Amino acid sequence: MSRITYVNGRYVPSREACVSVEDRGYQFADGVYEVCEVFGGALIDEDRHLERLRRSLAELKIEEPVSKAALRTILREIRARNRLRNGYLYIQATRGVAHRDHPFPDPPTRASLVVAAKSIPPEKGEAAARAGVKVTSAPDLRWKRVDIKSIALLPNVLARQAAKEKGAYEAWLIDDDGLVSEGAASNAWIVDARGVVVTRQLGHSILPGITRTTLIELIAAEGLTFEERKFSLDEALAAREAFITGATTLVMPVVDIDGKPIGDGRPGPVALKLRGLFHDFAAHSN
Ligand code: PLP
Repeated sequence: MSRITYVNGRYVPSREACVSVEDRGYQFADGVYEVCEVFGGALIDEDRHLERLRRSLAELKIEEPVSKAALRTILREIRARNRLRNGYLYIQATRGVAHRDHPFPDPPTRASLVVAAKSIPPEKGEAAARAGVKVTSAPDLRWKRVDIKSIALLPNVLARQAAKEKGAYEAWLIDDDGLVSEGAASNAWIVDARGVVVTRQLGHSILPGITRTTLIELIAAEGLTFEERKFSLDEALAAREAFITGATTLVMPVVDIDGKPIGDGRPGPVALKLRGLFHDFAAHSN
């Protein structure tokens, strides 16, 4: 993780970075976060991440801990102090420190802000993309506002742990109608039987992924056929291809769902093409 972490106005060695046990993030998961990819030293889709952070905070009525301009400066400072070239910046904002009581503190407390860096060698993702990853399905046990990027991730943690125990990389969360919501930490996509690229439409039941938004633009620019609609686990199992998107995985081919091969069981041409397009986009950022 980071050598240096930003905590509430200070840049501190990460092993000394700490927040109060009365922070509402610690006690109630009363906070939100962002994961902003850094690729070749460049912050990818920074504006979109900051806008989603603003929206998540607004939905939970948490004051912005610092101005957008100040946050941009902190991100750059953490990137520089950690000499981060490839990996991500983690931003977490909570409602702040107050004696434990469920309603919001009155008068309001100052929101807490933490920014950390994580370096990830790019070869790791490339090797995973060449092989493709496995997915397992799990019931979607989350609350009804997962469009807010809240730090309350227990159902996601449990689903990912169950996936890991089965040798899979990601869990696809299945809603009460048997439809795929999204991954536990990624958006879910298929290339359907007709060759159309499909991902679930936005709403309260999925996170509006930044990688998802940018990829939709790249798909349109490339002239590929694309639909935003729900799809079932059965349709995914019969799809030509499947893949996931997220700031840390980018576009990652899925080759196996619940032990059944997707397509010919190898990364599909569309997924690999889209991964390449996203890399080109990232390489030309900043
Ligand atoms: N869906 C969930 C539940 C996530 O946790 C994430 C990323 O962490 C995503 C989707 C992908 O979002 P993004 O592309 O902004 O990383």
